[in-house]
Amino acid sequence: MATKKEELKEAAVKAAKKVAVKAAKAAVEAAEVVVEKAAKAMKEAATPVITPEMAKIPAGPLELKWTNYKNHQKLVNPANKRRLDIIVVGTGLAGASAAASLAEMGFNVLNFCIQDSPRRAHSIAAQGGINAAKNYQNDGDSVYRLYYDTIKGGDYRAREANVYRLAEVSNNIIDQCVAQGVPFAREYGGLLDNRSFGGAQVSRTFYAKGQTGQQLLLGAYSALSRQIGKGKVKMYTRYEMLDIVLVKDENGEQRARGIIARNLVTGRIERFFAHAVVVGSGGYGNTFFLSTNAMASNGSAAMQMYRHGALFANPCYAQIHPTCIPKHGDFQSKLTLMSESLRNDGRIWVPKKLEDAKRLQAGEIKGRDIPEEDRDYYLERRYPAFGNLVPRDVASRAAKERCDKGYGVNNTGLAVFLDFSDAIQRLGKDVVAQKYGNLFQMYEKIVDENPYENPMMIFPAIHYTMGGIWVDYELQTTVKGLFCIGEANFSDHGANRLGASALMQGLADGYFVLPYTIQNYLSDQIGVPRMSTDLPEFAEAEKAVQDKIDRLMAIKGNRSVDSIHKELGLIMWDFVGMGRTAEGLKEGIKKIDAIKKEFWTNVYIPGEANSLNNELEKALRLADFIEIGRLMAVDALHREESCGGHFREEYQTPEGEALRQDDKFAYVGCWKYMGEDQEPQLIKEPLDYEFTERKTRNYKN
Ligand SMILES: Cc1cc2nc3c(=O)[nH]c(=O)nc-3n(C[C@H](O)[C@H](O)[C@H](O)COP(=O)(O)OP(=O)(O)OC[C@H]3O[C@@H](n4cnc5c(N)ncnc54)[C@H](O)[C@@H]3O)c2cc1C
Repeated sequence: MATKKEELKEAAVKAAKKVAVKAAKAAVEAAEVVVEKAAKAMKEAATPVITPEMAKIPAGPLELKWTNYKNHQKLVNPANKRRLDIIVVGTGLAGASAAASLAEMGFNVLNFCIQDSPRRAHSIAAQGGINAAKNYQNDGDSVYRLYYDTIKGGDYRAREANVYRLAEVSNNIIDQCVAQGVPFAREYGGLLDNRSFGGAQVSRTFYAKGQTGQQLLLGAYSALSRQIGKGKVKMYTRYEMLDIVLVKDENGEQRARGIIARNLVTGRIERFFAHAVVVGSGGYGNTFFLSTNAMASNGSAAMQMYRHGALFANPCYAQIHPTCIPKHGDFQSKLTLMSESLRNDGRIWVPKKLEDAKRLQAGEIKGRDIPEEDRDYYLERRYPAFGNLVPRDVASRAAKERCDKGYGVNNTGLAVFLDFSDAIQRLGKDVVAQKYGNLFQMYEKIVDENPYENPMMIFPAIHYTMGGIWVDYELQTTVKGLFCIGEANFSDHGANRLGASALMQGLADGYFVLPYTIQNYLSDQIGVPRMSTDLPEFAEAEKAVQDKIDRLMAIKGNRSVDSIHKELGLIMWDFVGMGRTAEGLKEGIKKIDAIKKEFWTNVYIPGEANSLNNELEKALRLADFIEIGRLMAVDALHREESCGGHFREEYQTPEGEALRQDDKFAYVGCWKYMGEDQEPQLIKEPLDYEFTERKTRNYKN
């Protein structure tokens, strides 16, 4: 038996061991923190940087940069233009305007789209309007103001020079479209009418009822058709680009020289050569499965560029639009936008009293039953200066905040009211119908409720992606000869796009920017003869595409493409959606990795690869959405601040507003592809503001 002394000794040893283990653990933890910090600092120090010279931003005063650029860029003479071929992928407003303009200038254009007609590109869905600084209303607008509103709206995360150029050419776009016959709404006296959109205190939005995108696209399409008729554009409808082909030049530098595309009707894979490739393939909002985007909108072209060395910039900047028809069930595959223009006259509210919200949720009362004094017009209350016309990110978060607190107005508790009763009283039902009739009709068809009698119900939904392929001032990616335009590129909108500015950017890129800048590149290519698509580079690219298709077809698993996509969408919404946290994003990345595994082992694609096969098309796009989703999460995790559409819950003011960290994150976060299943490398383009003072965004006064 142990003596008392031995027992005491044993206890003392045990206690000492415990203390030692605890101390060692603490020391290890502290060391780990130091190592992590040091690693982060080393990584930071080693992060490559894109300089203004690399971004080709012209020197000089802001308002003269574009003029100076145009005065000094290199040109291609008419005889040489005829010898140069350009591939344009996409026939949305960006692609169609670019293809038409380049052909009009004399280049030979090969234009591709997924749809059966260029007119069916997603741009046709745009409802509300297009911005321009015409100042027709004499309400104080100017090029500078449009520039300033856009920079501020984007939470000071866009390039100054690009945004100023955008504002500058905005007026040309309206003139161009009017000349094409686009039927913009007019006032009684015949002048073009304007309405207001979020983030501006002037009325600068030109519109054609609730069909602005359609009318603008018809304008671009007629210009394109003219060139198709003249033989300058060869149109390839129902073709999907599946890869870009790069060929080394005599200096060993890779240049974009063509594409591999699948004929969606026959399944045939074909090769196409060009001296330069322009991609206007739209945004990647459908990563979330449910979005306001067209069903065929995808991010695959962007991923093909990324895999070939083009940088992907700010992937985490996605726009959540505040006025969409709320989700109504699990079998839904699409969300419908109610145009932002409705916020001109519609007022957004929820009940002041929780008990009223509960009765609305239970279906016991309707919005119209709640008296005026019991309504909380929360945007007007929180943001008196801009009221219902605050930018989209601000309006979306405010709706979420009310719903999170239990004030939602439909059976899921995820909706707020958009009410026209005031406007109907003030203007009369006829005037409201004249302005917004088709939108009201669309709402009634979907929700089966008359919005003239009872307020509409709306909720935020994924709508637009500000992130995209990094381009320099010339709209050229980091791959020589590869250009990217429209929503597919990252430029101009920073962390949040203002309403009616996407159409402006798409058409600015296609009609007024690229036609100049691409010449600067092509002027050096006039001696390059047309290449045969029998080159090994084309054969290898085609083989890689075929191998990928064969691999997908051979899986023969148990899950439909949509079921996996839906699961990805839920993960994106829950972990990479409106409110993001470090913990949630890490969890989201793990879940996306698991989805990737599930997809590549258990997807089922019926039918054959060598014929029309919608499921194969969707599977190819989903494979890329999974990669984009992950990239979005990685980017969102690294950006330890809140700005625009990127809201990290750890970084907010006491009032719940986005809290930027300008000292650490005033840069474009660009990601470089490092290989399959490898972590991408961060490259920064610092946004040193020369002409604009960065402020905390204020829409209150
Ligand atoms: C419902 C809705 C309403 C909107 N309303 C407005 C508005 O009022 N004002 C505003 O400014 N913005 C609005 N937007 C945003 C705006 O419509 C888009 O940002 C803009 O139209 C995008 O134009 P784009 O030319 O870049 O791309 P898209 O119009 O998306 O066109 C993409 C083109 O690329 C083609 N394509 C894609 N991938 C491939 C591939 N791999 N191979 C071949 N072709 C390919 C497609 O076939 C298509 O032709 C709205 C968006 C939505 C969803």
